[in-house]
Amino acid sequence: MTTKIRMTTPLVEMDGDEMTRIIWKMLKQTLIEPYVDLRTEYYDLGLEHRNETNDEVTVAAAHATRRLGVAVKCATVTPNAQRVEEYKLKEMWKSPNGTIRAILDGTVFRVPILVDCIEPFVRTWKKPITLARHAYGDIYRDVEMYIPGKGRAELVFTDGKGGETRLVVHDFEGSGVLLGMHNLDESIANFARACFRFALDMRQDLWFSTKDTISKKYDHRFKDIFAEIFESEYREKFEASRIEYFYTLIDDAVARAVRSEGGFIWACKNYDGDVMSDMVASAFGSLAMMSSVLVSPDGKYEYEAAHGTVTRHYYEHLKGNPTSTNPMATLFAWTGALRKRGELDGLADLAAFADRLERSSLRTIEEGVMTRDLGILSTHPSKKIVGSEEFLREIRLRLEKSGEAGRSCR
Ligand code: NAP
Ligand code: MG
Repeated sequence: MTTKIRMTTPLVEMDGDEMTRIIWKMLKQTLIEPYVDLRTEYYDLGLEHRNETNDEVTVAAAHATRRLGVAVKCATVTPNAQRVEEYKLKEMWKSPNGTIRAILDGTVFRVPILVDCIEPFVRTWKKPITLARHAYGDIYRDVEMYIPGKGRAELVFTDGKGGETRLVVHDFEGSGVLLGMHNLDESIANFARACFRFALDMRQDLWFSTKDTISKKYDHRFKDIFAEIFESEYREKFEASRIEYFYTLIDDAVARAVRSEGGFIWACKNYDGDVMSDMVASAFGSLAMMSSVLVSPDGKYEYEAAHGTVTRHYYEHLKGNPTSTNPMATLFAWTGALRKRGELDGLADLAAFADRLERSSLRTIEEGVMTRDLGILSTHPSKKIVGSEEFLREIRLRLEKSGEAGRSCR
């Protein structure tokens, strides 16, 4: 028996619900604990425990992430009326991701996991396109009004000291609709810094797109804040890393993205990011192959899968039926967190283990062993569709066989 890979600072581990909770445990036991002397600060965000603690566990987990810097999170159920009934909840608790985002004030980056035998629907895409979505304001915090008939709509700002600015929005002759929305310099600046830092981390170009030719104050403010922060804080670092910051109009960015090879980070305003991230995820193949990381402006990281708790598979599992749930995005959440912990703590073998585990998992799929969701999409000539447990064992075989497992304790 040899020693396992050492960790110095614990990861914040946030457990979750349903099928992903089952996969979480299997994955740790099969692929991580045998090789890493895993240190975590464990928070059970499973719905039962959130209910028992009046959701205080979610807040505690977010604060632990502020303190320790790196977290890995399992998918969790966001309760609705039906879940309140199903789990006999005291309250319809808020979305854990919303709570965590509010405390960390971060930007969400969604990164597709690419494998050779799953071809993107866009033929030119060879490398991943990472979507960075601003997660504050615009239409997600708007006020809206139905205008029943003739009248004047105005935009009024009062500064509380007697000052007032007014603009006519429209003189209505008949019925119509009206909307007011806002954003904050501080939030935009945080978003910009998170994007620049992530681009440096990934060593990839950063694109940013808005519609500033039409929205000359609102969208232009986004463009200006990005430009100012880039010039004063990041230009030299970008040049040293041989990457670029590139601003263009959203419609031009869409056209360029489709013709590109991929391999860049695309920062979008809130609504554009909502639309583009689903487009990019499905064009690359599958939601089960999309990982996600929340990065706070002060450099705290929370890694997770982009998908949910895969409820349909869980109900099958409860009936005793075998399921073929894809653990790749969850695995990449773990490897992302371990690699970041390794980088921050100067533990090169921990970061190298994360790389090897990712390579072994990709090789497993490229050798034709995959879960059902990928089996449907794959062009592999001799594919074998397996359940989640067997898939994890196949990854472990490759991790061991290649002599790449590092210091196994077996
Ligand atoms: P979901 O869990 O993402 O699953 C939707 C469907 O996508 C599944 O039924 C499955 O399709 C496919 N799928 C997703 N992940 C897969 C995987 N790893 N392997 C194979 N197939 C996969 O979304 P949902 O069913 O709408 O939501 C379930 C619960 O998750 C909800 O309670 C929601 O609140 C929660 N949720 C949590 C998060 C989060 O924590 N970040 C995000 C989204 C949703 P087939 O049925 O066709 O096999
Ligand atoms: Mg959406």
